[in-house]
Amino acid sequence: MTQIAQITGGASRPSRGWLKPMFPITGKAHYYSQDKAYPAITSHGRAYFWRSLCGIDAVSTDKMPMFEPGNWDRCKKCEQKLSRRSAA
Ligand SMILES: [Zn+2]
Repeated sequence: MTQIAQITGGASRPSRGWLKPMFPITGKAHYYSQDKAYPAITSHGRAYFWRSLCGIDAVSTDKMPMFEPGNWDRCKKCEQKLSRRSAA
């Protein structure tokens, strides 16, 4: 099997869209929406909570931001929900 390096884009701070969290380091890019309007303050700085269309939670902080998806594989479940949503 050929391994193609998957590279994310730069740090990103939209409130929704295709995003790749820093953790887990593997996985796919999901279509995330920011869960709360205001960040929580933690020992790591501000933390932002995200929920993907397929139900995966992610947290980003100032030190571990969300990244643009670059050429990461996109989650099929999120893609399906997104196309269903835009078709409605
Ligand atoms: Zn997903």
